[in-house]
Amino acid sequence: MSGTFLGTPAFPEAARAALSDTQLRRNLAHATTTIRTKRAKVVGEVDEWEQLRLAGEAIKNRALRHLPHYLEQLERSLTEAGATVHWARDAAEANAIVVDIVRKHGTDEVVKVKSMATQEIDLNGALEAAGIHAWETDLAELIVQLGDDLPSHILVPAIHRNRAEIREIFLREMGRAGRAAPEDLTDEPAQLAAAARAHLREKFLRAKVAVSGANFAVAETGALTVVESEGNGRMCLTLPEVLVSVVGIEKVLPSHQDLDVMLQLLPRSSTGERMNPYTSTWTGVTPGDGPQEVHVVLLDNGRTDVLADPTGRQTLRCIRCSACLNVCPVYERTGGHAYGSVYPGPIGAILTPQLRGVGHDAQTDSLPFASSLCGACFEVCPVRIDIPEVLVHLRAQVVDAHKRERSLPSVQDLAMKAASWAFSSSSRTAAAERAAGFGGRLAAKVGRTAPGGRPVLGAIPGPAGAWSDSRDVPVPAPESFRQWWARTDGGRTEREERR
Ligand code: SF4
Repeated sequence: MSGTFLGTPAFPEAARAALSDTQLRRNLAHATTTIRTKRAKVVGEVDEWEQLRLAGEAIKNRALRHLPHYLEQLERSLTEAGATVHWARDAAEANAIVVDIVRKHGTDEVVKVKSMATQEIDLNGALEAAGIHAWETDLAELIVQLGDDLPSHILVPAIHRNRAEIREIFLREMGRAGRAAPEDLTDEPAQLAAAARAHLREKFLRAKVAVSGANFAVAETGALTVVESEGNGRMCLTLPEVLVSVVGIEKVLPSHQDLDVMLQLLPRSSTGERMNPYTSTWTGVTPGDGPQEVHVVLLDNGRTDVLADPTGRQTLRCIRCSACLNVCPVYERTGGHAYGSVYPGPIGAILTPQLRGVGHDAQTDSLPFASSLCGACFEVCPVRIDIPEVLVHLRAQVVDAHKRERSLPSVQDLAMKAASWAFSSSSRTAAAERAAGFGGRLAAKVGRTAPGGRPVLGAIPGPAGAWSDSRDVPVPAPESFRQWWARTDGGRTEREERR
């Protein structure tokens, strides 16, 4: 069983540890550069890429604006197609539903298609606790699972591992989980893939129940779609008798036409391919073909809270392509584990705090600050999520949450309150200016001169001293603008004197 992110320290501390791992940085730089370059090339081939992005944004916005309507339509379409729809408010409810279905079928194992939603709710942990083994069948997920590791990338969860490390994990662990890796296994990619294929095949053929997520769910027809590159998903979605799909409620699309746009945006943005090698679409139950019992668990788990926030809700447009991770200078150096969540990188920095809520723990509150706000993530996002805007919005929420916690106001709070009081009345502003002018004349006698001849004060005494440690505090002007205006009749007397 994979570990969990529980106990991950706040981002700066976790990042420091990751930065000292040169092997990790080398693996990440190589992998992200390769995917980034591929993406740029295939995106550059599409003249109307920006129009596609705008269309993707508009489709997702429409789906989110009318989410209750489309979800109910999806439920009706799925039910008519023979599927059973379940609604889960949170992770506990979703996990209980899946465990219950698996138990009813008297089996103690399931095969899994890679799914972010099931990672988010730690379904594998819940199944394990119920005595049910969940076998990951995506190659990278298999590496993470066998290595008792944690995913560090949305699309390539084992991006932090190189070939030699993968070979060592396969040789050491495969035999404990099923068919062992051949003893003469090398670190050639083809050999590693062949070992994984042989290991997984017996699981595919034996499993009665499969668990998946879905990239998209079409409301008008009830069709679910999974895109993948290895064919393991196709095996899971077609061979077992029972299929359970855990689907975040934001995955709904109004129509099949919308799917057309998304299937152009997603592969180019994620793997840098023109189309996905495997695109599986299924609609409920088809007698005699594929799983004869189909369940769909529609998962909220904080998504309706995200939807309620006018700035934050754009996060729900995300199609989990991971393009923002591959261009992020912070992610490239720290890797995914430093984010302490199944959602790393820029999307994780905005999604995780919104799903968990800010102001409760230091780790979550550190995530909106794990960015230089360079904006590269927005430039590549296929659904135009303005990640920097949401980051700044969340930073304000974190600051506000901690401000409420403090029993005593800070020096800055007091200074701002005093400024607000003084500037909200013209007579108080004038009095403050007179006092500043008097202070300025006095300070000019005791202050010092900065390079350039400008008079400046020395260090400010008391709690504000930290502010002046690294700054020159200017001496207030001896006369305010208004005093000058009154004295010179708007500058006229000075002009006449100069003539
Ligand atoms: S935020 Fe945009 S770029 Fe990042 S994973 Fe989501 S869709 Fe892709």
